[in-house]
Amino acid sequence: MGILAERDPEVAQIIADEERRQVETLEMIASENYASAAVLEATGSVFTNKYAEGYPGKRYYAGNVHADRLETLAIERAKQLFGADHANVQPTSGAEANMAAYLAFAEPGDVIMGLELSQGGHLTHGSPVNFSGKLYRFVPYAVDRETEVIDLAQVARLAREHRPKIIVAGYTAYPRLIDFAGFAEIAREVGAILMVDMSHIAGLVAGGVHPSPVPYADVITSTTHKTLRGPRGAMALCKAEHAERLDKAVFPGTQGGPHLHSIAAKAVAFGEALKPEFKEYARRVVENAKVLAEELQRGGLRLVSGGTDNHLILADCTSKGISGLKAQNALQGAGIITNRNTIPYDTRPPYVGSGLRLGTPALTSRGMGPDEMRQIARWILQVLDDPDGDGVRERVRGEVAEFARAYPVPGITDRQPAATLRA
Ligand SMILES: *Cc1c(COP(=O)(O)O)cnc(C)c1O
Repeated sequence: MGILAERDPEVAQIIADEERRQVETLEMIASENYASAAVLEATGSVFTNKYAEGYPGKRYYAGNVHADRLETLAIERAKQLFGADHANVQPTSGAEANMAAYLAFAEPGDVIMGLELSQGGHLTHGSPVNFSGKLYRFVPYAVDRETEVIDLAQVARLAREHRPKIIVAGYTAYPRLIDFAGFAEIAREVGAILMVDMSHIAGLVAGGVHPSPVPYADVITSTTHKTLRGPRGAMALCKAEHAERLDKAVFPGTQGGPHLHSIAAKAVAFGEALKPEFKEYARRVVENAKVLAEELQRGGLRLVSGGTDNHLILADCTSKGISGLKAQNALQGAGIITNRNTIPYDTRPPYVGSGLRLGTPALTSRGMGPDEMRQIARWILQVLDDPDGDGVRERVRGEVAEFARAYPVPGITDRQPAATLRA
């Protein structure tokens, strides 16, 4: 029995139940993944006890000799991984990284451009209920109605008209590659800062299967827990000329003490992503998404933009006569975990949505490949073709649980006893 189970069986039981859920279901939420046992161990370390406001060598508290070593290591690994001039590893979440980036480069009331939220922009890209929409004047750009791909000519037109301080590229539900060079050209022409929020695709960029924004963007924000497979948290990268501005915007601009335990885990995750195996992982994530996309299309499901170049698929459930909400719930009943989403020019409200977002990062972390994707596509189609059929759902749920148990889950089934380091 573990210490937690002994001292707080109530919480321990909930965690154990969640572990089992993660083992027995197919995790297809495009923003989720499985952190490794090493990342989890670092997250649970004693660095959770320490305050370290400031940066390595310039702290407001004593006792930071090891915190400085840790944060410096995380920064160096992040810079190496992405080839960036400067890295800040303190942002505690993607939302806060974005807040810091806006604070660094815009004043309240300034114009910022981002993708229309219902087409894959993030809440922090100008939602009226979010700080971003309340503090800045967001001008949305949109995907083309026909191709459902970002229309750079429209972005350029809007940028010339509205003269934004910042142009944001980087999305939550966009299945295609992003043309960072094209965005940079527009930003340069209108004198805007190009900010890339690569939260979803950071692991693909690190693995070399998505073009890197680093040569083009002034500032880059990213979560660390999505395709990058690190701990819950975020980071920001920038060109050397913006380093001081960005660091000040993170601390003291938007945050207090850094979460050193997360920074420890970020360092571990960056180290894992620097290994050659991670390139292979990223390649397989994309390969799996392509196979899944083809199979679903063959089964009559329409995919937004006609397919995928990255780790995610956005399916239009209208092609099966149902809403995204109905599809999500039917699949959940069968042990397949996804999320509903709006699609471009959706006629349903966001709470219902016509789309279903499906990602392969977590399945790929369990070692699944094209054969498994074909099987999973068959199950998805069986459920979506009969979303009210209790029999189908029950059968698929049983088959999915048995299938899923056969694949190891990083951080759960590979837990090793902790190595003991001596002082
Ligand atoms: C996930 C995500 C965020 C927010 O990250 P949190 O850690 O949930 O705050 C911001 N931007 C994009 C594009 C994302 O995908």
